[in-house]
Amino acid sequence: MMEQYYEIKKQYPDAFLFYRVGDFYELFEDDAVKGAQILELTLTHRSNKTENPVPMAGVPHQAVDSYVNTLVEKGYKVALCEQLEDPKKAKGMVKRGIIQLVTPGTMMAEGPTEAKESNYLTSVVTSKAGFGLAYSDLSTGEIYATHLKDFAAVSNELLSLRTREVVYNGPLTAENQDFLYKANITVSEPTPLSGEHAEISYVEQSLHNQLEKLATEQLVGYLLSTQKRSLAHLQVAQSYEVSQYLQMSHVVQNNLELVASAKTGKKMGSLFWVIDKTHTAMGARLLKQWLARPLLSVEAINHRQDMVQALLDGYFTRENVIDALKGVYDLERLTGRIAFGNVNARELLQLSRSLHAVPVILDALMQSDSPDLKNFAQEIDPLKGVAELISTTLVKDPPILTTEGGLIQDGVDQQLDRYRDAMNNGKKWLAQMQAEEREKTGIDNLKVGYNKVFGYYLQVSNGNKDKVPLDRYTRKQTLTNAERYITPELKEHENLIMEAQTRSTDLEYDLFVKLRDEVKKYIPALQKLGNQLAALDVYTGFTTVAEQNNYCRPSFHTDSQDIKVIAGRHPVVEKVMTAGSYIPNDVKMDEQTNVYLITGPNMSGKSTYMRQMALIAVMAQVGCFVPADQADLPIFDQIFTRIGAADDLISGQSTFMVEMSEANEALQYATKRSLVLFDEIGRGTATYDGMALAGAIVKYLHDKVGAKTLFATHYHELTSMDQTLAHLKNIHVGATEENGKLIFLHKILPGPADQSYGIHVAQLAGLPHKVLREATKLLKRLEAQGASELGPASQQLDLFTAEAAPAPAEEVSEEISPAKQDVLDQISNLYLADKTP
Ligand code: ADP
Repeated sequence: MMEQYYEIKKQYPDAFLFYRVGDFYELFEDDAVKGAQILELTLTHRSNKTENPVPMAGVPHQAVDSYVNTLVEKGYKVALCEQLEDPKKAKGMVKRGIIQLVTPGTMMAEGPTEAKESNYLTSVVTSKAGFGLAYSDLSTGEIYATHLKDFAAVSNELLSLRTREVVYNGPLTAENQDFLYKANITVSEPTPLSGEHAEISYVEQSLHNQLEKLATEQLVGYLLSTQKRSLAHLQVAQSYEVSQYLQMSHVVQNNLELVASAKTGKKMGSLFWVIDKTHTAMGARLLKQWLARPLLSVEAINHRQDMVQALLDGYFTRENVIDALKGVYDLERLTGRIAFGNVNARELLQLSRSLHAVPVILDALMQSDSPDLKNFAQEIDPLKGVAELISTTLVKDPPILTTEGGLIQDGVDQQLDRYRDAMNNGKKWLAQMQAEEREKTGIDNLKVGYNKVFGYYLQVSNGNKDKVPLDRYTRKQTLTNAERYITPELKEHENLIMEAQTRSTDLEYDLFVKLRDEVKKYIPALQKLGNQLAALDVYTGFTTVAEQNNYCRPSFHTDSQDIKVIAGRHPVVEKVMTAGSYIPNDVKMDEQTNVYLITGPNMSGKSTYMRQMALIAVMAQVGCFVPADQADLPIFDQIFTRIGAADDLISGQSTFMVEMSEANEALQYATKRSLVLFDEIGRGTATYDGMALAGAIVKYLHDKVGAKTLFATHYHELTSMDQTLAHLKNIHVGATEENGKLIFLHKILPGPADQSYGIHVAQLAGLPHKVLREATKLLKRLEAQGASELGPASQQLDLFTAEAAPAPAEEVSEEISPAKQDVLDQISNLYLADKTP
């Protein structure tokens, strides 16, 4: 056996080999040592007597899934090696073989959280012409393909897709390897296929780009060679271009917390958390896809909005649709399981119940007044035949196992009915026999029983033992208080019953497979239906959020980049606050205004205001209604952010470096049609350095890029830039003082903030009175000395207003004015004074 093991292990050196022995899967050698540690198994040894015992650890076969999932979650691969023949019937060594290689990108976990997640395997090919990229979720069979110019674009796609595994045909530079390692992406070698595979020509039928074709072939090849079965559910690959959608790098998506909170990585606190009101897992997955890829086409967005509006207007239609959707299971993944061949009878019934819900949905849609809903309904094929076939073949409550009978209704198959008759007659005969024997022997408590070892028997309690007719009965088993006997007649009927039973379970399994194969023919139609229901689910979900949260339908114009949002709100912040306490704010940027320079105290709401704008843009282009009284928007082509101090753990760069490279992205790639959010740029370095950079960046965005830009800063000095930059407007978040205390108004007001309020914020934070008093004194003295020397407008901003060569940043940072020096001295004196009472 070990020879066979080593032979197989040789072919899968990089996977844990789960080797089936009877009721266990065994791990051997290094797999056992490592596996025992990770999975907390007992490490034992095989053949203890020999000099070099082989380390061994095993898991029971019923529980194998959870062990496999644990390993694959951690990025490992698992090769499942099965006994390919019945050990009882095998001559000599039992034949074994790998039936599936489970990898991070092909794992299909089944918990409720996983149901709402897509798990993408990505394939990347490189050639002189650039990169081809294709990805698929094996559980649903969807495939998408694109081509990209460089590895940076590839990495961005990998991160946005949250890919766990990439199949890559090229050499990796150390830097790329490092990136993949840090991003926790398993890299796999392509697995060349021999022979023709129908799946490949089918999925790539609509692709024209050579790189996309190659990536798709490599993807399907890897799927086929790891799954080792035909994959009838793989869908025709859809070609896409990143530029067809509103582009946001994965960093931007994370910063805006579209599907997960940046702090916790969890759904709670994200935009998805607020707007996901779907009732099916398919709908939730589709909504996530939409959020990652908002649309650019006004027509397509309008179509989505029309659907939402129609459902909003038709209260009863919507309620009926929602009720029916609650009865729809995950058609996309059920279809995958049918193709995979691991669907059970209960799941087929889930499929048929889902299909039975479709006519109800169609009725509701057709009865509405909306042509949009009617058209949508007319596109849907409810697949009545499939629903009927399943519900008339399977019993209502079948067991999970498909091999032990009890699946098929009476009247479906004549032969099965005959076997069942035979079994029933046999059982009737047994009941009759019991009655007759009681009469004949006078033993009142004589009874017919059954167990797996002895089959049917007659049981007599010890008290009646002497009445047993030993000429006819043969003793079989003695218990403490009873004896068990058999008779030739009993055994004869037992054979009849058992044979009928075995044959009927075998036949039931065959009938089940036949049913499954019949349903398999409808896979493409089922997938289409799944997609349609998922979309309907998202639309009704949008209706629910719009109604519950009081959102409005945004309108779009393509002739200008003007933004007009009246009484906009941040969808997530609003949700976590007590109802009605969020202060709405407008954004009005016409062609005269490209840059909003936002000032105001810390914690006043600058960052919330900026994010609110970006989220409204994303929601609008996804087709969702938005948290505002009115929104008239352009179509944004890209969103760039530089927000907060979120360290980029993946690239391992320092905070300031991350800040600068994010800023750089925007400066390089933003267009007039982009939206740029910059929050507190320059914080990560010395004051003058930072201020100089911030000013230069504003100027560049203003002069050269022309994107709609929201720029929050704590450098009040920058506010005088409005004198020279025609399209820059100062705004600030209002705050007021009451009895020396700071009160945030959270209201956006025109013009720059007049004070920094820093001391008041410090007061809120509970700093000692002594410190606050000294700071106030210092501030007064500084103000008295006048702004001219201390840096603001007059001096610093010459930098940004003079078109000629600006002074290098170093000069600025080293130049410390006498006034500044004075302040520094005063601060250190203060410190010393405190130390020496
Ligand atoms: P800043 O960027 O100015 O430091 P934030 O945008 O982080 O401030 O806002 C700080 C807090 O103020 C938020 O967490 C929120 O609780 C509150 N806040 C912000 N904007 C509003 C608003 N428009 N209405 C009510 N509360 C707000």
